[in-house]
Amino acid sequence: MRSYNARCELQMLIKNASDILRRMSHAAMRAGRSPDAVRLVAVTKTVDAETIKKAVDAGLRCLGENRVQEAQKKISNLKSQVTPPTPPLNKGGSIEGVEWHLIGHLQKNKSKYAVQLFDLIHTVDSIDLAEELNRQAEKAGKIQRILVQVKLSEEETKHGVSEKELMPLLEKIKGLRNLKLEGLMTMPPYFEDAEKARPYFKRLRDIRDEAERCGFKLPELSMGMSGDFEVAIEEGATMVRIGTAIFGERK
Ligand SMILES: *Cc1c(COP(=O)(O)O)cnc(C)c1O
Repeated sequence: MRSYNARCELQMLIKNASDILRRMSHAAMRAGRSPDAVRLVAVTKTVDAETIKKAVDAGLRCLGENRVQEAQKKISNLKSQVTPPTPPLNKGGSIEGVEWHLIGHLQKNKSKYAVQLFDLIHTVDSIDLAEELNRQAEKAGKIQRILVQVKLSEEETKHGVSEKELMPLLEKIKGLRNLKLEGLMTMPPYFEDAEKARPYFKRLRDIRDEAERCGFKLPELSMGMSGDFEVAIEEGATMVRIGTAIFGERK
C-alpha cells in the first residue's frame, strides 16, 4: 500500500510539473519569448522531506523555501538521502544538481544560515540586510547571488523596498563585493482574476528597464505564482515560484 501510494505521488508530481512546464512554454511563446528563458522554482514550503525527494526524482531541480529554519532541516534530510558525495554547504548550499532559493522574508540575524543554505536569495529588502549578507558571504568565502524584493502595493503585510528606496539600495549593493545582484522580485496582492495582477508585473519590468538604463544589469525577474504565472511570463518573468499547482493545497 505504502509503495503504491509513493508511486502515485511521484506520478502526480510528474504530471503536475509537466503541465506547468507546458503552460509556461505556451505563455513564453505567446509573448514572443523563448521557453528556455523562464525557470520553474518549485515552492516546497510546508511540503515534507519525503515528497521533496520525489519532486527531485520527478525532475524538479530548483526548490524554493520561505523560512530559513524549515529549509535547514529539509536540506540536510535531502542531502542524507542522496548517494553521490555532496559539496560542502558553504560552496552554494546545494546537493548535486539541486538549487535552493529563499523566497520568504529574511531576518538579518538569520543571514549566516541563509548564506550557508541558499543559492539565490530573492528577498533582499534593506541596506542593513544587504550589508549583513555581504559580511556573512565574505566569511564563508562565497559570492551570494541575490534579488531585490520590490513592494508595489500598499499592503502592510508585504515586504520589499518601495520604488523610491530601490535606487539607493541598488547603488549600495554595487559596492558590496560578495553579493551578486541578478534582478528583482515582487509579489502582487492576491486576486481571483490573474489579469488584475498584470499591472504589477508590468510595473516591475518597467522599473527594471529604468534601472538598466542607469547602468545596472538585472536580467532576472522573479514574479508569478500558481494563480498568475502565465500573466507574469507574458510580462517578462524569468522565474516563477509555484507551490500549490505542483504539490496541492498547503495544510
Ligand atoms: C508560497 C509562495 C509562493 C507560491 O505560492 P502558490 O500560490 O502556492 O504557488 C510564491 N512566492 C512566495 C514568496 C511564497 O511565499
